[in-house]
Amino acid sequence: MRTPFIAGNWKMNTNLSEALKLVGELKPHVESITGVEVAVCPPFVSLAAVRQALTGSSIKLGAQNMYFEEKGAFTGEVSPLMLAGLCDYVILGHSERRQYFGETSELVSRKVRAALKVGIPPILCIGENLGEFEAGKTAEIVTGQLTGSLLGVEAAEGLVIAYEPVWAIGTGRAATGQQANAVISLIRQNAARIYGQAFGREVRILYGGSVTADNIAEFVGQPDIDGALVGGASLKAEQFVAIVKQTARLKNQ
Ligand code: PEP
Repeated sequence: MRTPFIAGNWKMNTNLSEALKLVGELKPHVESITGVEVAVCPPFVSLAAVRQALTGSSIKLGAQNMYFEEKGAFTGEVSPLMLAGLCDYVILGHSERRQYFGETSELVSRKVRAALKVGIPPILCIGENLGEFEAGKTAEIVTGQLTGSLLGVEAAEGLVIAYEPVWAIGTGRAATGQQANAVISLIRQNAARIYGQAFGREVRILYGGSVTADNIAEFVGQPDIDGALVGGASLKAEQFVAIVKQTARLKNQ
């Protein structure tokens, strides 16, 4: 019912030639795997070239961020209109944006509205930090971020949500499959509360945080987890392909 989805967040890694090399390595392997949607999210400067390299490919392209204004005096920002027609997805509200660039859920909600307006489905990231996790506040934080990031978003067709506990990102300390599934099931209930039961059943929710080829099975083996947003391991073609392969095997049996 929900197509499994694996997205690679390359973060601030790869120059143009490295990005093209990586996508060239991924293409033949990923394209031969069926039943899983796959996206790569390179840095802005490589988007156009990677798009070109992906001509005719089943691999989708995502951006890692975006501003909400359509144009104007916003030096250094990239607008939704610049990404429309270029990208299939845009990652919004990543914890690194929230943590290092002061992005609030209110700002993220403006970006979500702007992306949906130009027809780019956001991959909306939410997740608690270590202190919040240890204080048992995961449900409260994640619910608050979801509601706040969807403020004023009347319809969220195509939205993908990524539950990424901050303590698991880039740390090598992944959540357990059961932990992640419990939080994701709560997120699904909240999505259903906001947009209705059908939306709750259909919205794809990914897990992110130190996913590798060694632990992906633990996550995609869970009923509410539809795939993964992969950081570090998406920079190694062999690892990323193995993650996609295992997802296809486990979700389509
Ligand atoms: C991410 O950047 O979204 C992420 C989950 O990173 P990593 O897989 O490296 O933890």
